[in-house]
Amino acid sequence: MDDLFSMDVDGLARLGLVSKDEEKILSKADVAAEETSLSEYEHYLKHEFNSDAIATARKHGLFAINVKKEYGGNEVRPLIHSLVQQRLAQSGLGFPTLYDVQTFISQPSISRWGTEEQKKRYLPKSATGEFIFSFGLTEPEAGSDPRIMKTTYRKEGDSYIINGEKYLISNGSICNYMILFAKSSENQNEITAFIIDAKENGYSVEAQLREKIGLFTADTAMISLEEMVVHESETLGGIGNGLRIAYSALMSGRIGIGSACIGVIEGSLKASIERSKSRIQHGKEIGKHQLIQQHISAIKQNLEMAKWPIYNAAISMEEYNKDYNNKKLLLDADLKSATAKRIASRLAFESADRAVQIHGGFGYSLISPVGQLFCDSRVARIYEGTDEIQDLKIAADLLGKEFEAFS
Ligand SMILES: Cc1cc2nc3c(=O)[nH]c(=O)nc-3n(C[C@H](O)[C@H](O)[C@H](O)COP(=O)(O)OP(=O)(O)OC[C@H]3O[C@@H](n4cnc5c(N)ncnc54)[C@H](O)[C@@H]3O)c2cc1C
Repeated sequence: MDDLFSMDVDGLARLGLVSKDEEKILSKADVAAEETSLSEYEHYLKHEFNSDAIATARKHGLFAINVKKEYGGNEVRPLIHSLVQQRLAQSGLGFPTLYDVQTFISQPSISRWGTEEQKKRYLPKSATGEFIFSFGLTEPEAGSDPRIMKTTYRKEGDSYIINGEKYLISNGSICNYMILFAKSSENQNEITAFIIDAKENGYSVEAQLREKIGLFTADTAMISLEEMVVHESETLGGIGNGLRIAYSALMSGRIGIGSACIGVIEGSLKASIERSKSRIQHGKEIGKHQLIQQHISAIKQNLEMAKWPIYNAAISMEEYNKDYNNKKLLLDADLKSATAKRIASRLAFESADRAVQIHGGFGYSLISPVGQLFCDSRVARIYEGTDEIQDLKIAADLLGKEFEAFS
């Protein structure tokens, strides 16, 4: 196990926050992280999706950890889930993005909102990684404000017919199923979630979005839906409940992305320490220059500053998971996950930037591990709610509902 993380887990174990069984899961995540790091690196340089990482996560049972035992999983608490994601993200956000959509977003959506039949159909195979999910909310003209989405559904007999486009969809071209959000063609205020089969007629990959400035090992796609027939049994959480489902999914997803950001900071720190001890300029290791030490110290401080908000959000999520009807717990978990993701993503980007600086010209290359961390970390300030949207949420909570900048 990695030194810094092992200190963390030892500390949490001392506080009774991590059990022996959970430590075993974290050890598996450490092994998986090590096994995926080389393939992530190689695929990154080729700018291609890395399916090897899926195989590794399957092998170590990591897709099962947020699924209840009765559906084939070995559900762990949000804090442990977060610690697993942190480990996977030390070499970049490519695979952690897939893992976030699968285990922080899609599985909880089905577990919480699905019918018994849907849970039995989808959860066991998502726990093995046989079924990979995507989450289709964003559209070319509807990002931060999903209410203006244009994808529609209309009822015909016992089915719904869906038409529209989904943009920037992680796992969109490689998934088996998508949790899709669409609006009633008859009622602009009615948004509903569906589970749709990506192999069925009507679902097509319009483009694989490869011209990104990072995240090369993750699949990001534009999806077109044309006269797609979805049986009514595949609505998720009831007609008109779509936004509620989307927001609850993103609340958990933000803990996933924030946790991954801690991994990025950790990766930045490790690489920077190594480089500082091996690179010699002006007659000594650069780590002996005080200004480099200042960067190292700042990254370490960022690591510590990012952890608590994420752990705090994970603990709040655990409380909320026990009582979904408790509005106070919902608001608490929602605010904490937004705050934690906002803090961790800013600190991850800043840490990767400092790590690039420590690596000098070599750092400004995708061959260096920190170049990848720098490019990948930028997106964490955008997806699953931008910096600005999180700021507005945090401010509105403090100022009161009448100060909400948008509703
Ligand atoms: C690599 C990648 C993967 C993604 N994966 C998925 C996915 O799997 N599924 C999915 O559904 N989406 C996904 N997204 C989309 C992502 O969630 C959106 O990009 C994000 O929500 C922002 O929407 P937007 O890009 O349309 O920006 P816009 O909403 O157009 O925002 C542009 C700017 O305006 C600001 N802004 C917007 N509204 C306000 C306001 N009221 N006040 C102040 N500022 C405001 C924003 O903060 C931002 O700075 C992904 C995006 C990327 C880049």
